[in-house]
Amino acid sequence: AAKGDGKARSQIFHAQMDVDYHYRQRLKADLQEAITNGALTLAFQPLLDLATNKVVCCEALARWDHPSLGSISPTVFIPLAEETGLITDITNWVLSAAARQCQNWPADISVAVNISARDFRGGDVGQMVTNALETSGLAAHRLEIEVTESALIEERDLAQAVLDMLVERGIGIALDDFGTGYSSLSYLQALPFSKLKIDRSFVADIATNPRSRRLLANVARLGRDLDLTVVAEGIETAEQLKVLQDYTSVDLVQGFLFGRPLAASGIGALIDQLNDQTFDNFRKHG
Ligand code: C2E
Ligand code: MG
Ligand code: MG
Ligand code: MG
Repeated sequence: AAKGDGKARSQIFHAQMDVDYHYRQRLKADLQEAITNGALTLAFQPLLDLATNKVVCCEALARWDHPSLGSISPTVFIPLAEETGLITDITNWVLSAAARQCQNWPADISVAVNISARDFRGGDVGQMVTNALETSGLAAHRLEIEVTESALIEERDLAQAVLDMLVERGIGIALDDFGTGYSSLSYLQALPFSKLKIDRSFVADIATNPRSRRLLANVARLGRDLDLTVVAEGIETAEQLKVLQDYTSVDLVQGFLFGRPLAASGIGALIDQLNDQTFDNFRKHG
């Protein structure tokens, strides 16, 4: 019986792989169309300064509303775009659209754009940034680039050159999802980051687990010691906010507690609303 079960399971497994394969092939084919037809949009999520209660930045996050399959997560379509090389077109578009939107916000708010490893190889990131700044008229210091450790592992030398050049022009660089990749500490030493975004997996348990709390506090202290602006991602509860404020040197917070990523049409009102309240409100009411 065990043998028979194994075979059935294996068939199901392979059938599932086929479904996944065909689904992914279809999405890859549709993605090109989505880019040209404007089916990609941006959502923006605020980052707030714990010291001032103010929104200091909004992260641009790509959204794809597929005509028949509905909303597709960027965790699905960004890797597909990287495989096909379409990521260069997407990044180019995101940079321009994000810079344009940022011009509608108060002048002390910047915009952050995620860059893929593949962009360093497949595209001219410097040129794409220049285009976005020139066509929007946005000041360079209001644009930030977020890169992950895995992107840096894949394209270390290319990335280093490009990031150095961007920093020279006044553009801030954030190390995204910090703590989830390999040999993180060597990147902190070599690359010109201004911001450290601690991955939300480090935040998840801080309200209930003292070890998680101490780990986060120490990672934040490391960032602080290196003169980086330290961001905690993925704050969902009032209890997590309390721990961050009372036990850590985290500078900025980002998470569903303060606001989910919102379309450009809604983000202006959210910024105003957030700037009008204090963190005491979130601590009390969640
Ligand atoms: P990321 O750059 O780390 O972006 C933050 C992700 O965390 C976003 O997911 C955001 O919605 C989510 N998030 C924010 N606050 C919370 C929270 O309190 N709880 C939870 N559970 N999640 C929270 P999203 O928009 O689905 O994007 C996922 C990833 O896809 C991004 O992670 C980024 O790596 C990638 N991505 C999104 N847009 C782009 C893009 O334009 N270009 C590139 N290269 N990658 C992108
Ligand atoms: Mg990011
Ligand atoms: Mg992140
Ligand atoms: Mg992430």
